[in-house]
Amino acid sequence: MRIGAHVDSTDPLAEATARSADTVQFFLSDPQGWKAPKPREDAERLRAAEVDLYVHAPYVINVATLNNRIRIPSRKLLLGHATAAAAIGAKGLIVHGGHVNAGDDLAVGFDNWRKTFAYAADSGGFGVPVLIENTAGGDNACARRLDALARLWDAIGDHEVGFCLDTCHAYAGGEELLGLVDRVKAITGRIDLVHANNSKGAFNSGQDRHDNLGGGTIDPELVVAVIRAAGAPVVVETPGGVTGQAADIDFLRQQLGTEIPAA
Ligand SMILES: [Zn+2]
Repeated sequence: MRIGAHVDSTDPLAEATARSADTVQFFLSDPQGWKAPKPREDAERLRAAEVDLYVHAPYVINVATLNNRIRIPSRKLLLGHATAAAAIGAKGLIVHGGHVNAGDDLAVGFDNWRKTFAYAADSGGFGVPVLIENTAGGDNACARRLDALARLWDAIGDHEVGFCLDTCHAYAGGEELLGLVDRVKAITGRIDLVHANNSKGAFNSGQDRHDNLGGGTIDPELVVAVIRAAGAPVVVETPGGVTGQAADIDFLRQQLGTEIPAA
């Protein structure tokens, strides 16, 4: 089982080595900004690396919204990131499920997701698996609770689309972790990546505040159980830099009985 961390994008392979990680996730541009990613000078080195790479799309992307001043640039930015992720040989591009504004019809939000995949197909395809991630907060989210996720998958499930399960977001979003993998797979048929995070916020608090696996409000054994059931690669998005994340990765390897990769 491959286990890694969300790291700084300057030298992701060095960050992987520092954590004894065989997987890393990083941003290709400012996560709060709208700038398209620049081609990376280390693309060839990244493509050739033994380390598995995942790219996290900027947080500003919201392809579901009815606000076309956000939706249209979001589609473009998502496609730009997918192309840039493919150029470095990434295994997937993670993007949040998004939301509609209060008073707007969530059904239109799901249809906007469908249109996003149609737009990408018309533009030559994403070029890398797009993994939609569940989110923690909001009353009008496309992928906070599983009832919404089921409607989202009704709209886009015919396209090639993957799922990234974040344990902090699920718990803070109001989904019990016990048996969660089976309930998700009944909808999506797959889990491509697990974001293994504890939660500073309480169950159903709606707070997106990650904690180290041994801290927070979730029993760490439940996080391990989710990973075991999912059988997917794992990325921790936890605080504490190299020390904090290396400890979280070490904890998971011990619990899961996986070996540290040779340096
Ligand atoms: Zn996450």
